[in-house]
Amino acid sequence: MSHPLQAFMLSSEPFYQSKGDEVEQYRAAYQQKLPVLLKGPTGCGKTRFVEHMAYTLGKPLISVACNEDMAASDLMGRFLLNEQGTQWIDGPLTLAARHGGICYLDEVVEARQDTTVVIHALTDYRRRILLEKINEVVEAHPDFQLVVSYNPGYQSLVKDLKPSTRQRFISFEFDFPDAETEATILIRETQLNLDSCRLLVEIAQVGRRLKGHGLTEGISTRLLVNAAHLINQGIGFSDACQLALISPVTDDAEIADTLRHAVQAMS
Ligand code: ADP
Repeated sequence: MSHPLQAFMLSSEPFYQSKGDEVEQYRAAYQQKLPVLLKGPTGCGKTRFVEHMAYTLGKPLISVACNEDMAASDLMGRFLLNEQGTQWIDGPLTLAARHGGICYLDEVVEARQDTTVVIHALTDYRRRILLEKINEVVEAHPDFQLVVSYNPGYQSLVKDLKPSTRQRFISFEFDFPDAETEATILIRETQLNLDSCRLLVEIAQVGRRLKGHGLTEGISTRLLVNAAHLINQGIGFSDACQLALISPVTDDAEIADTLRHAVQAMS
């Protein structure tokens, strides 16, 4: 019989370049079904890591990109009107808890505070979700695990996770890898040649040093992957850097100039 969450099974192994012992550590956390928090800047591999882990553990993965309009019902479920009348539809968190999947809430602090409260009963010893609207308590399936990510860099204090929420999680710290590892990731992801990959990584490192000095976010691995794809499509190196690395991270003319100079000096 196929898994009730078959549609959420990854069909092929997502490539993930580990940076330390995080794969083994995550496995240990999963064996105990401990909730996991992934901290780190955007585009540094958090989502890819969860995808890789879900695949290798053979578990379905339900991912939700959180945003400020998100209410608790978006995670738990809601009544929908159809030909048969009103019907309860489980939300992603309930689905994962009921049938045993990994639920990944990306950028969880974006969601309203009431949504983070919903996850409390699921992340402590109770491991259950209370669906008040249909008067049901869903006991989490033994395979269920909650994973959330957040970017400490651009959260205001108000939006920061409440201590009572975050103390329920095992916390993994993510950051951009060292230059050689990042070049390896770029080659695997895009098949661009080693020299160009190394150059892109050097430019990213210049950008990352500007973080906090005019740049709110550094140039991420995701952006390097985009630049490499453009180069593979025949776009010139400098143009690809402008389109994929510089423009997306800044509107400030001076910072953009500094980055353009770095590109010219290196390419
Ligand atoms: P995040 O979830 O941290 O915002 P992602 O996991 O979506 O970032 O990573 C963005 C992209 O960067 C991925 O799609 C992948 O191409 C690449 N990437 C970053 N880190 C890794 C890694 N360690 N292994 C493989 N690919 C990576």
